[in-house]
Amino acid sequence: MHTIEQLDDGRAVYLNGKLIQVSEIPIFRKTLALNNQYYTLQKTHPAVHTYQENGHNYDIAYKVPRNVADLRQKHQAYQEIAQTNNGMLGRTPDFLATGMGILAERYAFLGHNKWTDFAVNAKHYAEWIKANDIFISHALQNPQLDRTKPINQIPSGYTGVHTVERRADGIVVSGAKMVNTMAPIADDLLIFNPPELLLEKGDTSYAVAFATPLNTPGVKIICRKLLDHPGYTEDDYPLSNALDEIDAYVVFDQVFIPWEKVFVENDTDMSNRFFIESGIFGHTSHQDEVRGITKLEFATSLAIRVAHTLGLDGFLGVQEKLGSLTAHLELIKGTIARSEDEGQLDEFGIYTPNLQALLAVRASLPAFYDEALRVIQHLAAGSMVGVPGFEEFAGDNGPILDQALTTSRADSRERSKLLNLAFDLSSSGFGQRQLMYEYYHGGDPMRIRSKHYLDEDLQAGNAMLDRLLK
Ligand SMILES: Cc1cc2nc3c(=O)[nH]c(=O)nc-3n(C[C@H](O)[C@H](O)[C@H](O)COP(=O)(O)OP(=O)(O)OC[C@H]3O[C@@H](n4cnc5c(N)ncnc54)[C@H](O)[C@@H]3O)c2cc1C
Repeated sequence: MHTIEQLDDGRAVYLNGKLIQVSEIPIFRKTLALNNQYYTLQKTHPAVHTYQENGHNYDIAYKVPRNVADLRQKHQAYQEIAQTNNGMLGRTPDFLATGMGILAERYAFLGHNKWTDFAVNAKHYAEWIKANDIFISHALQNPQLDRTKPINQIPSGYTGVHTVERRADGIVVSGAKMVNTMAPIADDLLIFNPPELLLEKGDTSYAVAFATPLNTPGVKIICRKLLDHPGYTEDDYPLSNALDEIDAYVVFDQVFIPWEKVFVENDTDMSNRFFIESGIFGHTSHQDEVRGITKLEFATSLAIRVAHTLGLDGFLGVQEKLGSLTAHLELIKGTIARSEDEGQLDEFGIYTPNLQALLAVRASLPAFYDEALRVIQHLAAGSMVGVPGFEEFAGDNGPILDQALTTSRADSRERSKLLNLAFDLSSSGFGQRQLMYEYYHGGDPMRIRSKHYLDEDLQAGNAMLDRLLK
């Protein structure tokens, strides 16, 4: 765990054209405090959040699951962490921590080159992360600049991160990655390529995977615009004034990476295999879906609370809408449980959740979340957009508003805060980013669904068809 001041460590963070200190930005301070709940829970609820190995205590996320009980304990920990931020922090430290626990065992396939042993580098890195509980953020997606050309033919120089010099002690890289969420407040940055990138022959300099501290000279973190509303309180914007897990464009300008931190280099095949074969994808997906259902539960409860407060929950048509949302919760919870119950021991003795079940969640949850927000908007309707700024309650109009907006179900301020929350989640810039993030959280749903169909076991259905059509 670190304090916000410790993040003023020389990292080059840019916001609105200025080089800033992370501690200067109030919303970063609040976001870090929420993110640090990951570390706090290890102290306040160690029975779930920690485990012992060789006499040392570690966060449970690093534990290599050997059976379904281990996965269930990790599930509970992920859920409790997500509940501290209502599922609004997409990349808390447990996300990549679980991947590092697995990488520490599934590293051997990475092989070596004439300068270094990538497999050993990955093992040592993962063990170092675990021992020090380092918060990693990751960036894999390359800027989308020209889809008609191989990456090395695009003249920009910022089409991805690539090796510009190979030395005895390491590599020098330049380029950019398109999005890196949480970059300003994380410790380390993990760079690799998405498995579907399909690098071509001339692209080998882009075929890299490595890690580096975020304050490495030459790394620039260029933040998107903030989504908070200075001048308003958390009563007005209960979510967007409480956190912003800032997204950033990351630039590498002649950055030196020592070989010990390089896991793939100059090898397109290995670059394509890195995310999946390391086991990082399968186990981070488990964390991701538990966080996702926590967020969906929050949105569903909010829709139901809005319906009740506005006196809509007795109507059959409204109950149908709400029932659709609660049914989605059951479907997702059931499918995550199935991914745990029907996990499999891999060749390393790692109990791995069922990926088809997890991908089914990823293929469906974005639409369910979208529907929850639509229901909130449709039910909260004009009541939501008519809420005045909270300062109005302290001004001349306070007594009028208190009288006018108080109902048998909520007093004026409770009702207004609830409707502000409904607006923030369903309609503000913050809420719309959360919606988009949920859509892309586990990658592009188009590709996820396509992979799901290709991998599905259809034997039973096909047998019936064959019998009938014979
Ligand atoms: C809020 C947010 C935070 C993010 N944080 C991170 C992060 O921390 N680290 C990170 O690495 N990435 C992050 N991402 C990036 C995310 O992983 C990607 O946005 C996602 O994988 C989709 O890739 P893309 O944006 O390149 O989409 P594209 O590949 O550009 O696709 C855009 C659209 O075009 C469609 N499309 C593309 N090709 C075809 C085709 N051949 N046929 C039909 N349709 C096609 C896609 O289905 C999609 O709908 C974040 C994204 C968001 C929105």
